Amino acid sequence: MARDFSAELVACLGDPVRENPTGVMIEAAFAALGLNWRYLTIEVPAAKLRDAVTGIRALGMQGANLTIPHKVAVIEHLDEIAPDAAMIGAVNTVRREGGRLIGENTDGKGFLRGLRLDARIEPAGKRAVVLGAGGASRAIVTELALAGVCEIVVVNRSVERGEPMVAELARKTKAAIRFEPWRGAYRVSPGVDLLVNATSIGLFPDVQAMPPVDWSSSSPGMLVSDAVPNPPETRLLREARSHGFAVLDGLSMLVHQGAIGLRMWTGQDAPVEVMKGALRRVFAEA
Ligand code: NDP
Repeated sequence: MARDFSAELVACLGDPVRENPTGVMIEAAFAALGLNWRYLTIEVPAAKLRDAVTGIRALGMQGANLTIPHKVAVIEHLDEIAPDAAMIGAVNTVRREGGRLIGENTDGKGFLRGLRLDARIEPAGKRAVVLGAGGASRAIVTELALAGVCEIVVVNRSVERGEPMVAELARKTKAAIRFEPWRGAYRVSPGVDLLVNATSIGLFPDVQAMPPVDWSSSSPGMLVSDAVPNPPETRLLREARSHGFAVLDGLSMLVHQGAIGLRMWTGQDAPVEVMKGALRRVFAEA
């Protein structure tokens, strides 16, 4: 039988994108699964996005990840958008179904999977506070709402960004989501089960920064989760742990969102521990 030397291709498109470590995680997974697949990290300026998507079609690529500045702009170039990605209003993963390109958003789904598998928490019926109102927050809030969280409070520094986001997501998901402006240390009320940092505060290289939080009224059983993946142990999580709270790091979300994407592309279960190990090594080298 003739041998097949051709590889399947997936790419991460962004600008800037050179320091994005997703390729290390996904290539480690391809190798562990014995797949002849390649994951390419490609700088694509905003003006070239349409051509890049045409390229995905022309090359028969299996899919892509999108990062800054393409997560919203890519939508008009795709054939279909998954319902939750449409609610979030952004696509971080494209998968191919026959000749059609479908836009998905795996960020919030990855967060939920981490909650369930790594923190052993079922979000339905819980009360959550999400700090931040950027892209990560939109994805997390949407998926928490769809998962049946009973109340979500979004806390953000800029009211102009936070208030309209909350109004939009409350309308789309029909969930109880409300906004609070962030002034000084945010006092977490008793009864909050889950506190999520979805801001970029604490992200490498600014590792000594942490969101100002007043823990004095918090319930002892609260879980504190950080979307910041690098460093995995943020100052927020260290402090939360020292107050006796359970914690969930941003590496969990990053790996699970990648694992969900990898399954969409390959149909195979992702080797999550291999992927986590590959990322830990990259972050430790930084
Ligand atoms: P955005 O730039 O879209 O949003 C940033 C948010 O952080 C805004 O709400 C902004 O508030 C807030 N913020 C930033 N600095 C401050 C500050 N000094 N004080 C108060 N608020 C602040 O970023 P993303 O949503 O894309 O990313 C947020 C974080 O999530 C990043 O650390 C990113 O690495 C992480 N992330 C993790 C993923 C994972 O898989 N683990 C996936 C995607 C993102 P304001 O509106 O007032 O400016």
